[in-house]
Amino acid sequence: MIVFTRPFLTGEELSNISQAMSSGLLAGDGPFTKLCSSWLEEKLGVNRALLTHSCTAALEMAAMLLDFQPGDEVILPSYTFVSSANAFVLRGATPVFVDVRADNLNIDETLIESAITPRTKAILVVHYAGVACEMDEIMAIASRHGLRVIEDAAQAITATYKGKPLGTIGDLGALSFHATKNVISGEGGALLVNRAEFVERAEILREKGTDRSRFLSGQIDKYTWQDVGSSFLPSELIAAFLLPQLQASEQINEARLSIWQRYLEALGPLAEAGHFELTTHAAETKHNAHMFYLVAVTATERESLAKHLKSQGIIAVPHYVPLHSSPAGTKHGRAATPMPVTDSYSERLLRLPLYPDLGEDQQKVIAAVTEFYDKKIKREAN
Ligand SMILES: *Cc1c(COP(=O)(O)O)cnc(C)c1O
Repeated sequence: MIVFTRPFLTGEELSNISQAMSSGLLAGDGPFTKLCSSWLEEKLGVNRALLTHSCTAALEMAAMLLDFQPGDEVILPSYTFVSSANAFVLRGATPVFVDVRADNLNIDETLIESAITPRTKAILVVHYAGVACEMDEIMAIASRHGLRVIEDAAQAITATYKGKPLGTIGDLGALSFHATKNVISGEGGALLVNRAEFVERAEILREKGTDRSRFLSGQIDKYTWQDVGSSFLPSELIAAFLLPQLQASEQINEARLSIWQRYLEALGPLAEAGHFELTTHAAETKHNAHMFYLVAVTATERESLAKHLKSQGIIAVPHYVPLHSSPAGTKHGRAATPMPVTDSYSERLLRLPLYPDLGEDQQKVIAAVTEFYDKKIKREAN
């Protein structure tokens, strides 16, 4: 059996966790959390990186920090994970969905302006598969209309746009360290606070609405309830696991990229012959091989391909079901544009197994995909 995803371990996680255990510091914001935050701040060049228990939590913090109120609107792609929309619905706000680009399934920046209303407060972009959205154009639209930008960079650690790490370009960015992502802690995430004006309040929201982080750093001698908030911070055990993962992120990235490249070289000719589509990357973006997917010609062909792979013990999986037409999406949100790309690509996209220790199994996946299309070519020739 070749599974779709498998968590990568550096080998250092357990000894770090046991160090945290013997130190007796198990709650959040201890030494391991500080090391992780500093690592993110230095390597990504951000003002403040706050570890959270998930990317979902970081997105919820972003919606709170931007003061989303009932009736406010956020523009985002329909083709994304539910958390990108839920964060705003929890504040009573309305997700306004737009279609994505066919070449990389990122928000179609040319459609954003048509979705802006007097209630629009922010644009949320998703760097799908760790491939950058058109950030220059998106930031320019935001500044023309006085909007904030949130980057859902859940899949995008180590990826860049014109040399800038994804998640550090908008006002706020959110990373995920979920077990299925490139750099992991089981569950986990971080809020990247890219504007100094948000730092103090972000720390308060994350600590149940108290100024406990100023207390911990010795700035005040008791902490009190200051604002709304919740508990968004992970335990030290999680941070102890995460630290060696962050430190290995470049190696993880290289291992994934070489697998990605091998898929591209092996399957590129079939794509060029029109049997399916592959993502293209703008030259100024550096992706992180978070996923390798192909887009079949029809939904039926995707099902047959997935079945063919399954029969050989290979698990390949579709991805997002569009949000604009989902039960909660129609109740809480609205589509601002027609959704031809979202609707059609979500039905035809198939993700292939990709993880650092895929090893020789990758050859089997390539052989099985090739066999499927060779058979199809022969059938059509007859
Ligand atoms: C994984 C993912 C999330 C959620 O991350 P969690 O850490 O599991 O909360 C949000 N948005 C996108 C685009 C994701 O891929």
